[in-house]
Amino acid sequence: MTAQATAPVVDIRGLHKSFGQREVLKGVDLTIAPGEVVCVIGPSGSGKSTLLRCVNQLETASAGSVEVLGTEITDPDVDIDAVRSRVGMVFQGFNLFAHLTVLENCTVAQRKVLRRPKEEAERIALENLERVGLGDRGDAHPHQLSGGQQQRVAIARALAMDPQLMLFDEPTSALDPELVGDVLAVMRALAEGGMTMMVVTHEMAFARDVADRVVFIDGGVIVEEGAPADVIGNPQHPRTQLFLQRVL
Ligand code: ADP
Ligand code: MG
Repeated sequence: MTAQATAPVVDIRGLHKSFGQREVLKGVDLTIAPGEVVCVIGPSGSGKSTLLRCVNQLETASAGSVEVLGTEITDPDVDIDAVRSRVGMVFQGFNLFAHLTVLENCTVAQRKVLRRPKEEAERIALENLERVGLGDRGDAHPHQLSGGQQQRVAIARALAMDPQLMLFDEPTSALDPELVGDVLAVMRALAEGGMTMMVVTHEMAFARDVADRVVFIDGGVIVEEGAPADVIGNPQHPRTQLFLQRVL
């Protein structure tokens, strides 16, 4: 393999992030290889969302470097929109446009950012809605869908942009329990299809089954990382053990 083929999709080095006086990330190093699925776990307030948001510059690093798809995004001259157009992000809230149909939600960015013609954008939107099991709901408005369906639309909308990296921030945390499974199934299929993914989640069964690597973060540092069988199945650090006792 060439160096190009094995270059990391995400390469974070010495990342610090402060809000005012409060240092939230205290030196994080994290590399994600192509096709790798990394689940980030840890207590509330430990810095998981901040870390994820630094990967597409929704938060700006206070120190350190963040390279995404070969571009150093902390560089002030970077074309961040170009990087973001290749990175899909799915949040806890679904953030769909309420006044647009499902199909329109999945075509807006394709047309505006990628400049795809309407027919092509609609075809690609439909393909991705089918992929998440909602091929027949293109004419619906978000409020007509369940939370789980809305979250699957949000995933389809991100996938329609042909992302090379997908970021998920607790995508099932706002869902009623019976709706979680369908969303996780879509994410699992995506992972099995080779998508590079960084997933902040409290779903330990998902992390154990789907992640290539689990990263446990606490107090703004990575305390432990490794294969799910090790980090979740046989944690070495007392803080990881304590966290898992509480959530499992
Ligand atoms: P997690 O996702 O692990 O729950 P976050 O990354 O959201 O944690 O937050 C880590 C800490 O940073 C928390 O104490 C939170 O209050 C603080 N924080 C996050 N975003 C901001 C912000 N925009 N301004 C000030 N403090 C923030
Ligand atoms: Mg969070």
